Amino acid sequence: MLILLLVWVGRSWSLDLRISLFQEQLVDAMLFTSVDGDYSVETNRGPLGICPEGDSWYVVLRKDSLLIRDHAGAWHHGDELRFSAADEYGVFRLKPVLPLLASREYLSDLQVEISMNSLLMLNEIDMEKYIMGVSETEAGSKCELEYYKVQSILCRTFALKNFNRHEAEGFNLCDGVHCQAYKGRNIWNEDVEIGTEVTDGLVLVDEDSLLLNAAFHSNSGGETRGAEEVWLNGKNYLLPVLDPFSLNQPSARWRKSIPVNDWISYLQTKGIFLGDLQDTSLLEMHVKHRENYYRVALDSLLFLVIRDDLELRSDFFGISLQGDQVVLEGRGYGHGVGLSQEGAMEMARRSYHYTAILNYYYHQIQIIQYMFLEETGKLQIDMNNLP
Ligand SMILES: [Zn+2]
Repeated sequence: MLILLLVWVGRSWSLDLRISLFQEQLVDAMLFTSVDGDYSVETNRGPLGICPEGDSWYVVLRKDSLLIRDHAGAWHHGDELRFSAADEYGVFRLKPVLPLLASREYLSDLQVEISMNSLLMLNEIDMEKYIMGVSETEAGSKCELEYYKVQSILCRTFALKNFNRHEAEGFNLCDGVHCQAYKGRNIWNEDVEIGTEVTDGLVLVDEDSLLLNAAFHSNSGGETRGAEEVWLNGKNYLLPVLDPFSLNQPSARWRKSIPVNDWISYLQTKGIFLGDLQDTSLLEMHVKHRENYYRVALDSLLFLVIRDDLELRSDFFGISLQGDQVVLEGRGYGHGVGLSQEGAMEMARRSYHYTAILNYYYHQIQIIQYMFLEETGKLQIDMNNLP
């Protein structure tokens, strides 16, 4: 925990978030374990006591209230339950029991409420500590420090831009891919922490100083694409770039074989009339660069639609015939807009600075410091504090 100590001393401002945990599951029972430091426990009816380091409390939903068993075996009731860390370095483990899921570790506090007949488990946590968890979840443990800086800035920009996405439900962001994946802290890689710390408060804004929609994906396949080709709204900062850094990376290529007759049947379900197709080579389409449409016979079909229908890794692929199979030769992984994670990781390995990596994938951006004014509750951008 020494690194955390170094990281968190001397912060001049903070912003607390409420993150819904295990959002994609309906959890009816859970086990709370205090991993680092004691936790004080209280319900809306009053304090229940202390959960000492290493001990566990069990919480189960019974009708309309929470049934709580403490570490000594005594039972309690409540509608809301709160586990508060004794200090800012507190770590707890959360294990869903109904259904049984793998446990995860988190920093800071846990609030448990009832919502839609299941447990609503909220991690109340400082923004920068949350960013460490998202960065670890997104990037894993094997990246260069420079890449963790990039990932932290992307995740922080997203978190601020979508700060009140779940306001109606009583929290800020969820931990699923609907917002950004957050599985807490389970690897404890020091570079994740340093990457967040040295970019403390830095976010991306466009020419008008508006927070970016900082889209990213796993691998561009060698070229990224403009936002307007995937979503309705184009952005000046989300333009296509040639991306040699993504080539020869783990997700650069994929391949899928489909029997010719199945392929023809699929095209017919999309309203494409092939008539009496004598020459099946007409099904082929070789692509050098990204294209929007698969042109077949006198008709066409969006690559995006094929990707969705067949759950392909990307919509960047060519189509060739091999015997009685149609072979999709694919490139990249993901929607292809904005930053390619594997490309950026390769740039970091080649010693590019994090600002150079961000400026490579996003156009006309500024990397600036945000500040949170507690008096007004508003976010403010400090233009004098550029990296
Ligand atoms: Zn969400």
